[in-house]
Amino acid sequence: MTPRRPVAAVVIALAALMLPACTSFPAPDSPPPSAVADIPVPPGATSQTSIEEAPDSTDCDALVSLRPGTMPTPRKMPARSTMADIFARGRLIVGLDIGSNLFSFRDTITGDIKGFDVDVAQAIARAIFNDPDQIEFRVLTSGERIAALQAGYVDVVVKTMSITCDRRQDVAFSAPYYVANQRILAQRNAGISDTDDLAGKRVCAARGVTSIGRLQSIVPTAKITTTSTWADCLVMLQQGQVDAVSTDDAILAGLAEQDPWVSVIGPSLGEENYAVGIAKGHDDLVRFVNGVLENLRDSGQWQQMYNRWLSILGPGYPPVPRYED
Ligand code: GLU
Repeated sequence: MTPRRPVAAVVIALAALMLPACTSFPAPDSPPPSAVADIPVPPGATSQTSIEEAPDSTDCDALVSLRPGTMPTPRKMPARSTMADIFARGRLIVGLDIGSNLFSFRDTITGDIKGFDVDVAQAIARAIFNDPDQIEFRVLTSGERIAALQAGYVDVVVKTMSITCDRRQDVAFSAPYYVANQRILAQRNAGISDTDDLAGKRVCAARGVTSIGRLQSIVPTAKITTTSTWADCLVMLQQGQVDAVSTDDAILAGLAEQDPWVSVIGPSLGEENYAVGIAKGHDDLVRFVNGVLENLRDSGQWQQMYNRWLSILGPGYPPVPRYED
């Protein structure tokens, strides 16, 4: 009996099969292969060739909104009102972003969506339901906000949304609840300290935002790249695919918190007044939201929210509303 022989035969056969492969290995002292792949750009990043309008048009009195009436008691919304429909549905549908640190972002430990904009949304839900958590969040990119309101996909947009005359043709706005300033974000050692340094440079912004038109009007030679989200702009800045990001300081501060090598730079390029976006034809909801914002200011809650989320931006005060009847 020779039980080992078949095993030995298999080993020899396998070795014979592997031989040609082994002999094709390069010699140990040959140079390493040059397999340098391009760093991928975030999906959807494109260069913006068209010129957009600067958001500072004086074609309308952009910041004026509807005067709030007497606020109803929570859970007792006036019959046939937009708020009564929301109450009957059992939840307020809020469009926002979950990648805007400080304003609306997912807490990686608890999984909750938090931030200044979330606090505003919860104050609206509390005023309707007496419960800040009767909310469904629907995630929107910056470029989807107006269409989401027009399609009735959300009741309100609370996403660092600036009031402009152009947008007022498509949607309604509450009174402003926060004033931001457009600025620049760049690597600390990039030698960029002002808009003059952006001439001919690559600058990133999310699609569908006011920041693009304003930057184009100040630095016409800047080469704009647009992305779906602000986080994508940060990645492109970190990978050296753009030289700067430009948008509201409030958003840039949230990006800068995630990377000590980048910083918010230079003076304000212009003011951005954030308001709650509401579909046209719901004046009752506009007045109601303005009442909620009045309560946030008068009760001191606005200041508490500011101190909690935005104190890294320096001292902040609530904007004073202006109403038409
Ligand atoms: N405030 C700017 C706007 O409404 C940028 C905000 C954002 O991208 O969320 O267009």
